[in-house]
Amino acid sequence: MKKGIAASKGYAIGKIFLKEHQEIVITDAKVADVSIEKEKLQSALEASKTQLQAIKVKAEKEMGAEKAAVFEAHITLLDDPEFTGAMINEIEGNSLNALKAVDNITNSFVAIFESMDNDYMKERAADIKDVSKRIVLNLTGNGGDAFAITENNTVIVAHDLTPSDTAQLDRSKVVGFITNIGGRTSHAAIMARTLEIPAVLGLGDITTSVKTGDTIIADGIEGDVIINPSEEVLAEYRAKQKKFQEEQEELKKLINVKTTTKSGRRLEVCGNIGKPEDVLGVLANGGDGVGLFRTEFLYMDRESAPTEDEQFESYKFVLEKMEDKQVVIRTLDIGGDKTLPYLPLPEEMNPFLGYRAIRLCLDRKEVFKVQLRALLRASIYGKLAVMFPMISGLEEFKQAREVVEECKIELKSEGKEYSENIQWGIMVEIPAAAVYADELAKHVDFFSIGTNDLIQYTLAADRMSEKVSYLYNPMHPAVLRLIKMTIDGAHKHGKWVGMCGEMAGDEVAIPTLVEYGLDEFSMSSTSILNAKKIMLEQE
Ligand code: PEP
Ligand code: MG
Repeated sequence: MKKGIAASKGYAIGKIFLKEHQEIVITDAKVADVSIEKEKLQSALEASKTQLQAIKVKAEKEMGAEKAAVFEAHITLLDDPEFTGAMINEIEGNSLNALKAVDNITNSFVAIFESMDNDYMKERAADIKDVSKRIVLNLTGNGGDAFAITENNTVIVAHDLTPSDTAQLDRSKVVGFITNIGGRTSHAAIMARTLEIPAVLGLGDITTSVKTGDTIIADGIEGDVIINPSEEVLAEYRAKQKKFQEEQEELKKLINVKTTTKSGRRLEVCGNIGKPEDVLGVLANGGDGVGLFRTEFLYMDRESAPTEDEQFESYKFVLEKMEDKQVVIRTLDIGGDKTLPYLPLPEEMNPFLGYRAIRLCLDRKEVFKVQLRALLRASIYGKLAVMFPMISGLEEFKQAREVVEECKIELKSEGKEYSENIQWGIMVEIPAAAVYADELAKHVDFFSIGTNDLIQYTLAADRMSEKVSYLYNPMHPAVLRLIKMTIDGAHKHGKWVGMCGEMAGDEVAIPTLVEYGLDEFSMSSTSILNAKKIMLEQE
């Protein structure tokens, strides 16, 4: 048995199709006639474009327009003068052969993206490699369909799977993906989850230890891969697979079900989002609202902060999509492990205990006000709740509210509309706020418990450190006490309490949280239906 990263839930049992690694030899040989090389490149670019257009149409049908957009981006790359134009210049300027020119330009683009201090941008290097690989295959006469799969129940084993590989797969035949490289945020993982095909990624060297036709089991829940299993093991996994499929079908029935415990208590099950488009996933999984919009993602992957108008459009989009469902938007939580290139932060020994989140916003009011004005202006388009991150005491909340009032006065004088029905709350993620909850509750409209941070601060166990991860325990009695104190403190003053840390979707924790009286649970969209199921079984 081999262990990898469980990237898409489910069990795949089938025969392996090993996608061989094609060795293409690239030399830096100079050419006498650059016009021939330029023509070769031009026709490879055209062939790539035709193929990508066909893939895009197929992907739109099978995965929807949102996921197919990646191929539009690939097509755009083919026309980008900075990318393919630079390849032509490379041939002309240095008399290089077309393959070498493609290779040089690709390497310099990939190096730029991979050096960026951000996972999303790093993953974009994969798009560049994917497009480049297609150009190279067309240059060497190997373009066209990457897979000719004829067998049912095929499990693809590959070094890596690119989005275009993934989109070309025949879903009626492919039941699983296994790769040497990639993680949960890689494109192959995202696509696999969208297609609901089980996937185990990051196995290191799986391609060297299997061959086409071998039998394989891939467990996308545990991340286990078993090659040529015994009949007994096969039977065991067939039973697991059947059970899983039945459970998934069952869960879909809960999409439109309101979550009520056996004793009749109504619970809100919401989704966490990072990008405005993520609301579509919340709706597709039957979420009652958005319990956390991590707005710092709007500030990332760019060279300057988003303007008031840009932010306004993002918030309006989410509020309109959610219609009468509540949307909790958290103000900028930058600092700690989240940094911005255009907002330099001081070097600190303990950035998680330092200048971050509300501390930074209260210090840099000009940054804070842009966001607050955008939120206020968007508030007329739906049911908005705003919360401040990393609140340690009453004074910070009061100061933040004062800045809100300043923004309201400005907007009024400019004749711009906003709603008076916004709820104003705080994240309870610092133990001090939990201990002081019964007092804070007098002043806020709601609490949302941020357990990701609350656990690390309570147990003094860095959430980023593998070495101390054994201490990072959501069910530690001290953590549970703080959660209970927060809920009781809020309820004492008639306020509602949500939870938007990972613990809210944790199967083990949900029964205790329901028992404690938590009102709202917010989690990644794909966990919503399973969480609903567990809640419906509670008293
Ligand atoms: C949390 O701390 O629990 C939380 C939801 O915020 P983040 O994970 O963004 O710090
Ligand atoms: Mg937090």
